[in-house]
Amino acid sequence: MEKTLHIPRLDIPIKSIFCIGRNYSEHAKELGNAVPKEPIVFLKPLNTICFDGDTISIPSQSKDVHHEVEMVIAIGKTGKNIKQEEALDYIVGIGVGIDLTARDIQQKAKEKGLPWAIAKGFDTFAPISEFVPLVEVPSINNLDLELKVNGQVRQTGNTLNMIFSCEYLISYLSTIFTLNPGDLIFTGTPKGVSAIQTGDKIEASLNRNLANLSLSVE
Ligand code: MG
Repeated sequence: MEKTLHIPRLDIPIKSIFCIGRNYSEHAKELGNAVPKEPIVFLKPLNTICFDGDTISIPSQSKDVHHEVEMVIAIGKTGKNIKQEEALDYIVGIGVGIDLTARDIQQKAKEKGLPWAIAKGFDTFAPISEFVPLVEVPSINNLDLELKVNGQVRQTGNTLNMIFSCEYLISYLSTIFTLNPGDLIFTGTPKGVSAIQTGDKIEASLNRNLANLSLSVE
C-alpha cells in the first residue's frame, strides 16, 4: 500500500511542494543569473521527500548534483489572496530542507527555455528536517542557515537576506495557488552551492540547533 508522507513532528500529510529560485542575490550571482524582480516559482513532486537520517540517491542521469540548503515553511490552513500582514497566521511550522538540483540537467533546460521539473524532481531530492512549531521560532526573518559536507562548511546564510520575505512569498503564491494545510515552501538558498558525491555526509541546520538534518549520499 502507498504510504502517506507526513511533515515530521507536525504530523500533517504533505501536499504540494513549492520552491522559490534565486531568493538570495549572492546565490543568483554565483550562477550568473540576474536578481529577480518577482519570485521564481517551481514545484517538486512528492517522491522527492525524504527525512533526517535517510540517504540521498544520485541519479544515473546526472554527473553534477548540487546541495541547496533552505528554510522550509509548512502551511497550516487554507488560504487564497492572503495579505502580507496576515501571512504568518498561515504558517504552522518551520524546518530546514535541501533543494537538491541536478545542475547539469538544469543548465541544459535553462539554455533551451525548458522547465526544471527533471533537474529538481528525482527521488530523495527534497530532504526535510523535523519542523518547529512557529510559536517556538524566535524570528522567522532572522534565522541562520548552514550546510556542511563531510564536516566542512559549504553554505552559510541568514533569512534576513532573502530578496522576498516569507510574508511576501506566502502572499504572492496565494494569488496564484490556493494554499492548503501540508503545503511546503522551500524559500531559496544562500550562496555556496556545490556538488555532492557518493559517500558524502551532509549536515544542514537552521539557527544552529533549531532544526537539523543529517544525510548520507549513495
Ligand atoms: Mg533552491
